[in-house]
Order: sequence, then C-alpha cells, then structure tokens
Amino acid sequence: MAATVEGVEIDTRHWIGGRRVDSADRFQSISPIDETPIADVASAGSAEIEQAAAAAQTAFKTWGRTGREERARLLHKIADGVEANIERLAVVETRDNGSLLRSHRRGVMPRVAHNFRFFADWLLQLDHPDFDTRGHRNHVSWDPAGVAAIITPWNAPLMLGTWRIAPALASGCTVVYKPPEWAPLTASLLADITAEAGLPDGVFNVVQGLGKTAGAALTRHPKVRRISFTGSVPTAKTIAAAAAENLVPLSFELGGKSPFIVFADTDLDLAVSTAVGQYDNAGQVCLAGTRILVEESIRAKFLAAFTEKAQAIRQGDPRDETIDIGPQISRPHFQRIDGFVRRAKEAGLQPVLGGGPNAKLGGLYYQPTLFLDPPENAEILREEVFGPVLCLQSFRTEEQAIAMANDTEYGLAGVVMTGDEERAKRVSAQINAGLVWNNCFFVRDLRQPFGGNGKSGIGREGGTWSFDFYCDVKASIFSP
Ligand code: NAD
Repeated sequence: MAATVEGVEIDTRHWIGGRRVDSADRFQSISPIDETPIADVASAGSAEIEQAAAAAQTAFKTWGRTGREERARLLHKIADGVEANIERLAVVETRDNGSLLRSHRRGVMPRVAHNFRFFADWLLQLDHPDFDTRGHRNHVSWDPAGVAAIITPWNAPLMLGTWRIAPALASGCTVVYKPPEWAPLTASLLADITAEAGLPDGVFNVVQGLGKTAGAALTRHPKVRRISFTGSVPTAKTIAAAAAENLVPLSFELGGKSPFIVFADTDLDLAVSTAVGQYDNAGQVCLAGTRILVEESIRAKFLAAFTEKAQAIRQGDPRDETIDIGPQISRPHFQRIDGFVRRAKEAGLQPVLGGGPNAKLGGLYYQPTLFLDPPENAEILREEVFGPVLCLQSFRTEEQAIAMANDTEYGLAGVVMTGDEERAKRVSAQINAGLVWNNCFFVRDLRQPFGGNGKSGIGREGGTWSFDFYCDVKASIFSP
C-alpha cells in the first residue's frame, strides 16, 4: 500500500521487524490545507501491536548489548539520512499537518537530524565518575530498560517523535512508535531512513493506527517497559491507567496554558513581536504563552501595537513561503476551537481581534483571536484551546503578575518580558513551570531538561534526563 504525496512515494504500511506489514483496516490521512484525502494508511489492532512488541523484544536481546560507539554511529547515520531527505520530509509534513513549509525546511527537519546527533554524542560522554566508600568502588551504569512505546501528536509530528525515539535508541532500548493518525506520513519515511542507515531489524518499529485501538493496545502491552507520551491530558489519564496494570514508568509531555508577562520596562517592539509569535503554527503549540499579562501602565500602547501587528499576519497555504500561519489540523479540531470561542462570546466576552473562521479563506483557516479580561474562572482562560486564541489581562504589581501567572492547573512554560535583569531572575524563579524564557521565546537547547509541572506532565527529558528515563540505572559496588 503506497501513496504519492507532493511527488514523494510513501509506503503507508507498518514497519515491523524490518519489513512492511499490512492491516485489513485503513484510515485516511486528510490534508488540512484543502481537506482532501492524501493517503490510505494501515490501521493496526492488537495483532499488529503484538507482532511489533515481539519483534522489538527479540531485537532488544542484541541492541541492548550493542556497544555505545556502534549505537552512536548508527544514530549519526540516521541523521545523515534525515539531512539527505530534508526536502522530501518537509513537503510531505506540510501537506500532512499544515505547518509552514519554510519552517519545516529550515528549522524543523534540521532539528530532527539534530535530535539523533545530539543523543548519539551525549551517549558517548554519559558518565558518572566512580567514587569510593570505605575502600569500596561505587560504579553507576545506565542499562537500557527494554521495549519503549512512543506515542506523539500531530502538531510537530516528526520533531516530537524523534525527540523521544532518538534517546530511546541511544539508550539501547528498542522502540515501537505509534505516530499521530492526523499526520502519520513522515513516520513511514523515517522507517525507510532507519533501514537505509543499517539499523538492525526490529530495533525501530512503526505501527500506524488510531489512538483508541493501536495506541490503547500498545500502552497495555506487557512487553513494553517504558511509555513515552506527548499529547493531551485526557489521553494521558487513560494511558496512566493502562500502564498501572504492568507498573511501567511513564514520561508525559502534555498541554499548557502558559503565562506571557509583559512589564512596563520592556522593549515594547520585542514584547509585541514575541507576543504575536504566540499565534505561530496556528496556535497549535503546547508551549505557547496564551495568557498575556500586561502591566497596566502600558496596556493601551501594547494593545494598539499588538493588534496592528496581529492584523498583518498573513494566513494561507503553508506551502507559500510568504505565509505566516496555515490552517488548523482537522475539521474536528477546528470545531473544537470554534466551540471555545462561541462559548466565550455567549458568556459575554467580545473578541477585539478575530473571533471566528477566516471566511475569505474558508476551509480550516481560523482567524487569530484575542479576548480581553476574561473573568478568572472563564473557560477560555483556564482550558487549553490549542488554536490561535489568546487572552489579555493586566496587572499592577509584580506580586500580582506572579499570582496571575501561577493561577492555572498547568505548568509547562512561561515568558517574562522586562528590561530589568534582576526582575527577570526574581520573577522567573517564582513561576510554576518547567521552562521559563526571559525576553525570548522558543530558544531550545537539548542539554536542558524539558517537561511540565501539574497537568502539563510527568518527568523531564533532554540530556541525561532522557537516559535516566529509558534506562534502569544501576549501582554496582566493588569490594577492595
Ligand atoms: P491526543 O492525546 O488526542 O493524541 C496524542 C497521541 O495519543 C496520538 O498519537 C493519538 O493517537 C494517541 N492516543 C489517543 N488516544 C489514545 C489512547 N487511548 N491510548 C493510547 N494512545 C492514544 O493529543 P492531540 O490532540 O493529538 O495533541 C494535542 C495535545 O498535545 C495538546 O494538549 C498539546 O498541548 C499536547 N502537546 C504537548 C507537547 C509537550 O511537549 N508538552 C508537545 C506537543 C503537543
């Protein structure tokens, strides 16, 4: 079963044990750009999951004992393959998930290759120096845990997938990857790249399918020793319940409702352009600062500049290099976003920007929207919309800004815009989040821990944190 998307041929069957495997069931991948079906994809049930888990467990017997240098070498070969295929991956990903082609070409796909290179290099210097206890030598080792199940969403499919796959493989785990059903295609291309790189059969497996069938069967499977999940809170709860049965360690990267705090001493142009950047990827970014908190004394000035800049956002076909934001991922997601906006309007809030579908473009294009001063219990202020919908409120004091920022069940990220370095340190230290940017946004270094507090997740990945998760870390003590 194959599809040709933007001139790229894709085998849309599963990749299990080093060969293509089909299913009787299919699902369609529908392009958000024009809502046309672009591929029929194999849809797994528990039999295919069983096959993949068995293949991964068999491969683990060898891969788990393969030396670090060889694992690192193969990960670099995969990175070479990604780099050689950046254009093909970029055009397919854009057609499949509607994110900007220019960012796939120049940002996202190079980062996919970097995910493999970074964890390959980190593996080679992963070390905990031996230490002495009353003449006994203490040694720490990172032993791979076994089969890792990796499940990710559609908003940055290959980037989010490989952010988990690369450290799992580097650790010596074997992987069963279930890509998102709303953007499944680049995972199939990645399977080809890993095969061409010479990764042994069964080390990396892709099982396509729906969350409630393939995803559910994978997370329940007794051979799985780690579950790494990126996605929504309701799904995370279902997976946590499934994992409880087998007592499997979990890593969860979930949603957010992050604060974006603007103090009066900020560089206004920088604050405005960074704030408007929260509409990037049509608002489908877990880290987005969707609650803009502005110091009252500059509110009018900020709002005027923000509105002007946001109105200049060019929305349209994400394959056009001059476009700033594309469509929402799917009709159900579009309707979900519109439901939030409608209910906010019914509750008496009037958007000062946008507030509905983009009638000129039609399809899945939704206008960048801004609500002012929702009451503190308003749904639009408390729930993650995952679309181009922001709220703006104001504050008078630093303490009030911090209290408002922390008034959420989430704790993924935060942004602080201020010209005062001491204030930046003071405020970011008090924000309840896994990651705080000061006078910047989206600067990422894979050496940093990544993850969220509260409803935003469980655990951290990045650098050694990733290896800690995918390994059973062992202490060995040697007598003198
Ligand atoms: P989702 O939870 O609906 O789906 C995510 C993945 O889980 C998909 O692959 C889906 O097939 C699978 N899934 C669904 N039900 C399942 C089940 N019962 N068992 C096993 N797997 C199942 O999330 P979504 O709507 O696709 O993604 C958006 C969410 O992801 C947002 O909340 C967003 O904030 C979050 N997200 C978080 C991060 C992060 O790093 N923290 C990054 C990107 C997206």
